[in-house]
Amino acid sequence: MIRSLLIANRGEIACRVIRTARRLGVRTVAVYSDADRNALHVRMADEAVHIGPSPARESYLRGDRIIEAAKATGAEAIHPGYGFLSENADFAQAVIDAGLIWVGPKPDSIRAMGLKDAAKKMMQEAGVPVTPGYLGEDQDPARLKKEADAIGYPVLIKAVAGGGGKGMRRVDAPDQFDDALDSAKREAASSFGDDRVLIEKYISSPRHIEVQVFGDSHGNVVHLFERDCSLQRRHQKVIEEAPAPGMDAATREAVTSAAVRAAQAVNYESAGTIEFIADASDGLRADRIWFMEMNTRLQVEHPVTEEITGQDLVEWQLRVASGEKLPKTQDELTITGHAIEARLYAEDPAKGFLPSVGRLEYLFLPEDVRVDTGVEQGDAISPFYDPMIAKVIVHAPTRSEAVDTLLSELNRRPISWPVRTNAGFLYRAADAQEFRSGTITTAFLETHVEEVVPPAEPPSNMWYGAAWNLLPSRPVNECRAATPWDGFHPLRLNSPESARLAIQSGDVVRVIDMLNSPNGNWTASGRDPMLMLDRGQVYSFRIYEPRGTGTSHGLHDGEIEAPMPGKVTAVEVSQGEKVAQGQRLLTLEAMKMEHALTAPFDGTVAELNATPGAQVNEGQLLVKVTPEDRPS
Ligand code: ADP
Repeated sequence: MIRSLLIANRGEIACRVIRTARRLGVRTVAVYSDADRNALHVRMADEAVHIGPSPARESYLRGDRIIEAAKATGAEAIHPGYGFLSENADFAQAVIDAGLIWVGPKPDSIRAMGLKDAAKKMMQEAGVPVTPGYLGEDQDPARLKKEADAIGYPVLIKAVAGGGGKGMRRVDAPDQFDDALDSAKREAASSFGDDRVLIEKYISSPRHIEVQVFGDSHGNVVHLFERDCSLQRRHQKVIEEAPAPGMDAATREAVTSAAVRAAQAVNYESAGTIEFIADASDGLRADRIWFMEMNTRLQVEHPVTEEITGQDLVEWQLRVASGEKLPKTQDELTITGHAIEARLYAEDPAKGFLPSVGRLEYLFLPEDVRVDTGVEQGDAISPFYDPMIAKVIVHAPTRSEAVDTLLSELNRRPISWPVRTNAGFLYRAADAQEFRSGTITTAFLETHVEEVVPPAEPPSNMWYGAAWNLLPSRPVNECRAATPWDGFHPLRLNSPESARLAIQSGDVVRVIDMLNSPNGNWTASGRDPMLMLDRGQVYSFRIYEPRGTGTSHGLHDGEIEAPMPGKVTAVEVSQGEKVAQGQRLLTLEAMKMEHALTAPFDGTVAELNATPGAQVNEGQLLVKVTPEDRPS
């Protein structure tokens, strides 16, 4: 068994690999960029090496620096995780040429599967059913159009070098073909530097079924059953499960044995996934499942397979890379129960799934089920990388119990603030009748946006609960005296039995009239938002503070810090200038939104560390205001 391992990745997958390595007594080396200096994977590893600036291109994609780091720390092997360099055959070869062990398939297997058209041809030769279509060399638009007409619409144009849904266009009718081809080629050229395309029959009622395969250097190949990843948003997986709902024994046998043949055809070693597309208009049927592509790495969704088989796939990878045989034979592998994984992202579904970056001031993740994460409370979601927070993985005896467990976990936790998450969206998607019945297709989320995206504004009954909880238990007079708000009183007692309170959630302010006196358990605080959870969705409430009287984020005694990484777009004041409370000091653009940073009180600009156009990091001191009556 290898004794030391460098993990050429970050986030949850780096932490995941470190966990298994540690259990097996393997020393771990992390690599990190500027943004990840204090990241969890760095804290967890035995050793860590800085490999460059925050952009991935200058750090996690710098194969040369990663190999240097392995040599400098005496690591014997490199695990690439997923993404970044994991499917880069040249990097795999460079690792091997440097005398290190590559924890992954042979570079030739990665290459063979890298182009969709070549991979499909190879699978056809191995007797694996592939989606009907055109894979020819002739890329003349007229020829492509003729082939599309012959296949019959709708068809899908795919970039042969494609990935992540890029360079892919669905064409419903012949007269749309030319435009779709142009735009697919343009996108393919700019994303992959290769504008060749193939054409496939568009499968109606498509379900995404994939098979986990594993090979070793002794010529053994097994499968670890299938996963269903049909719940997708824009061709990106959202919720995955194993086994696939509605998969009968004959269909499973057909698809898993096709996957094993596919892996054998490339002498596959290590973990791989064969992706299939099924026409599920009539349920899952053996003669309606076709090879789509092979991923030559560990997948994000591998935990569901681990849960139902009781195996640790990272351990398998490390054993196979060490030259050992596969830990189990096909006969020794069985399915126990049902597992579901939901990908928790730092993004705001109500705002078009815009990533939500910044510090995870509050983060409570589920504790009773498996959670694979790369962050802890206090860490930051940076704009440089995939904004995944965690994967929530449940395992239960049956599918319906697994769905219930997932829902009950999402309903209590995760709670994150001020970073927004897609937890409410995950809840609604998993709770949808179609998902419960196990019949959803990859089109489900697109056609059910209304049902699955939680409203930006909290449901009306929540406002009343919030109002009661925010209502001061202290005497109202004392409360008023304590607030610095000029002339505005968010709370008015109409009589001892009734009160009127203005509260704010997001951009919405509501005036709530309440009867009865409060129970006295809560103390009002206009500054601290109160969080309430509705089916996974976190809503914040605070006592309404009119604009200009509020505080900026990151305010410490007049020190105004950048609340998130961004760009200074305007500086409205100069050093030494007198400013009034609420006056705009500068404007910061972050995540496509403008944030005004205002003076917390009357005073003087004692320090100014911002110029228009400057890129600033979260927490960076931008302006220091000293109060009127105090010397600096
Ligand atoms: P990429 O490599 O760009 O991710 P894939 O070939 O893996 O592209 O396809 C991505 C997704 O597109 C699949 O998961 C499936 O939802 C959909 N898809 C792919 N091929 C077809 C097809 N022939 N018919 C219908 N949907 C398809």
